[in-house]
Amino acid sequence: MILALAGGVGGAKLAAGLARALSPGELTVVVNTGDDFDHLGLHVSPDLDTVMYTLAGVANPQAGWGREGETWNFMQSMATLGGPTWFQLGDKDLATHIERTRCLRSGESLTSVTRALCGRLGVRHAVLPMSDDPVRTVVHTEKGELDFQHYFVRERCKPRVSRIEYHKASAARPSPQFAAALADPALEGIVICPSNPYLSIAPILAIPGVRDVVARCPRVLAVSPIIAGKAVKGPAAKLMQELGAQPGALEIARWYRGIVRTLVIDRSDAALAPQIEALGIVAAVEDALMRDDAGRERLARACLARLVR
Ligand code: GDP
Repeated sequence: MILALAGGVGGAKLAAGLARALSPGELTVVVNTGDDFDHLGLHVSPDLDTVMYTLAGVANPQAGWGREGETWNFMQSMATLGGPTWFQLGDKDLATHIERTRCLRSGESLTSVTRALCGRLGVRHAVLPMSDDPVRTVVHTEKGELDFQHYFVRERCKPRVSRIEYHKASAARPSPQFAAALADPALEGIVICPSNPYLSIAPILAIPGVRDVVARCPRVLAVSPIIAGKAVKGPAAKLMQELGAQPGALEIARWYRGIVRTLVIDRSDAALAPQIEALGIVAAVEDALMRDDAGRERLARACLARLVR
């Protein structure tokens, strides 16, 4: 069994590739919930939804969030009524949040709701929230302390960041299924998807015990979300700079030092391989940009080959 740790966009792309390469019993995808928030009385889980929609084949590939073929009647009516419209919720997507919230209020865990929603959408591989307990990523910026979605969506990642915090992470437990997967004797390796290391992977590793177990696993591979010094999408490179690091795959290697044995970097970063290897990490040079389904599967198979070697 392979465990994949994922955020939204980059995580979902590689998770989809892994799902094409592995049968349902062979893959468990654990997803960041530090981005979760309550909006309009609803529990929204942006990364879980991106992974779920992507694996179900119903994601909007252009936006990187939400569903394809959306309609926007709800948003238009909200605008007419003068309600908050900074966070876009398509009509189909809205049903996910309403149903999730209904089930959570009736006492179900986020893990159980996620399994049910994924099942309904035809996702055959296991998708798990990192925790059933609330963990909230908070970004300290020049505009003060911002909840993650306020920083990411409302402020479009513009304010300069000085620090990132994972509220309540120290009191959170990994979801029972995540803990079981980490302890499973059938665990062959862990793939850290090319997700934002600070915003998507760090919250997962911040749950007590998780970082140590991952670090002890002999086969852990990460894929760099930074290619040629730039993020493919999102604020990873901007954040690196603001947090005092040089944006690049080498910095990703430094960040994952002590946790991963192998770092997959893009061909355009091949020259960094000796510096990465000097850190004690195997640098695996591959085509790390996933342009389409074939690219996702190719990168996933390359990761699996590097993992078992
Ligand atoms: P978010 O929670 O929606 O921001 O999603 P993630 O953290 O999972 O993904 C964002 C990261 O994915 C960014 O840092 C991107 O650079 C990275 N990313 C997106 N597409 C690709 C890709 O095709 N290849 C690689 N290597 N990284 C990617």
